[in-house]
Amino acid sequence: MQLPARFLSPGGRHGKLSILIYHRVLKQPDPLLPGEVDAASFEWQMQLLAQHFNVLPLSEAVERLKKNSLPNRAVCVTFDDGYADNAEVALPILEKLGVPATFFIATGFLEGGMMWNDQVTEAVRHAQGNVMDLTQLGLGRHDISVDHSRFSSIKRLLGELKYFAPNERLEKVGEIIECLGTPLAQDFMMSHAQVKKLSQQGMSIGAHTVNHPILQKINSDDARQEMADCRDLLKDIIGQPIDLFAYPNGKPNQDYGAVHIQHLKDLGFSTAVTTAWGVSTAQTDVYQLPRFTPWDKKPERFMMRLLQNCMKTKIETVA
Ligand SMILES: [Zn+2]
Repeated sequence: MQLPARFLSPGGRHGKLSILIYHRVLKQPDPLLPGEVDAASFEWQMQLLAQHFNVLPLSEAVERLKKNSLPNRAVCVTFDDGYADNAEVALPILEKLGVPATFFIATGFLEGGMMWNDQVTEAVRHAQGNVMDLTQLGLGRHDISVDHSRFSSIKRLLGELKYFAPNERLEKVGEIIECLGTPLAQDFMMSHAQVKKLSQQGMSIGAHTVNHPILQKINSDDARQEMADCRDLLKDIIGQPIDLFAYPNGKPNQDYGAVHIQHLKDLGFSTAVTTAWGVSTAQTDVYQLPRFTPWDKKPERFMMRLLQNCMKTKIETVA
């Protein structure tokens, strides 16, 4: 495995930087969240990286990418949104294996908040009975008698709510929760203390806006404020400057544009990551670094996909 990895992900002048993106690390596999990694899988994935790759803190990797001094098989690990399980489940594994990571936090959900999609998932998870009746909200009747039908209902609801305007959506989600009568957990996202702990253990903290809006859908001044307010609170929490940023949703053009890159520069951010797939080279815009997650359940396939991604140097960006 070392040889093809060295060949496909060289260092120095031809350096290539793979940046992995995670959201949650679940304690146990969860039939309602099949796309999220669980602790056992996350552990072998990190073990594989620690063994076969050079895992670097994001800031160091970007500096070395610019100076053509990246080691071969360079990888960074990042997390988006600020889930409490990042501190509770992922951190101990990262520490045990000596793997550095960067956590991009949406500060509006710290201390008891929850993103709208998670509110729906958790409300449906705890809904009682075999049928969930949301006809009075215009959202139909749903079979929730078994896990996979409960999962399908969640997917259907999220699909419908996606097209609502943000304010109407929040209102609708509130109505769903009220209708189902399921109180939501207060410790779903991190507390300030957990963010501070990550930083104290040597992990990096980056900004991900306050309310996680699609930047292209809000006005430019509000977008700038979202970036600045998030940065300022994180700086207060960890007592260190914040200069890394991840765009919410992160698709070039669709979710962010040139104006947002300019805001980041004006606000003093040094680096930003997207969700366009691919690998970074010295030519990649450091305000649009692509990220990627191998989704395979077996180590061999995971590794193969990670290496395949190293061949994708043509990356989608905004002009
Ligand atoms: Zn996010």
